[in-house]
Amino acid sequence: MRIVELGESALKKGRDLAIENKKFLDTKGVFAFDVMGSVGSGKTSIIKWLVRKLKGDYKIGVIAGDLTTEVDALRIEEEGVPVVQAHTGRVCHLDPGLVRTAIENLPLDDIDVLFIENVGNLICPAAVPIGVHKEMVVTSVTEGPYMIKKHPYMFQRVDYVAINKIDLQKAMNVSVHGLEEDLRELNPNAIVIGTNGITGEGVDKLIQCMSFQQ
Ligand code: MG
Ligand code: ZN
Repeated sequence: MRIVELGESALKKGRDLAIENKKFLDTKGVFAFDVMGSVGSGKTSIIKWLVRKLKGDYKIGVIAGDLTTEVDALRIEEEGVPVVQAHTGRVCHLDPGLVRTAIENLPLDDIDVLFIENVGNLICPAAVPIGVHKEMVVTSVTEGPYMIKKHPYMFQRVDYVAINKIDLQKAMNVSVHGLEEDLRELNPNAIVIGTNGITGEGVDKLIQCMSFQQ
């Protein structure tokens, strides 16, 4: 008897769709980042800074993922770049099918670099690739000292980690250095930069470490 598990077939279909998304972006010459992190870590603030500092050099587009609101998309639109809001409803992560629809709603011929803000969640996005070139996590010292240790699947695979809210290290008694040591155990290759999403501190350093083409 053959037994087919719904979960496994759905994940496989998702992986295939993610591969197709990346190929599609490649044909359009778009280099894409999946930006993940908990609710309130500062994903939107960091994306806003990245857009502000990069838009003179690259044509930027953004997809903002959220359950039901448009608050993040509206904040990014203030930077004058094309933004598509992707609503997931009751689903706690972006899936590659929804991302594909969002991508097709962007003026791709006018975009070199695409930032995709995932839904605020560090668990399922680690299991659901959406079809990008690089992955970034924005975490923050306000999430406590065990944030990285408790999300091994996410931090093992990610390319860039912004540890945000560095100005609150003392108040939270959580150090960027300690979080960085936890990350090194899981992922020696990830690039880690401390950032302040309010002042933009650290964002130039992050940009110097990022690649924007294959
Ligand atoms: Mg956000
Ligand atoms: Zn989820």
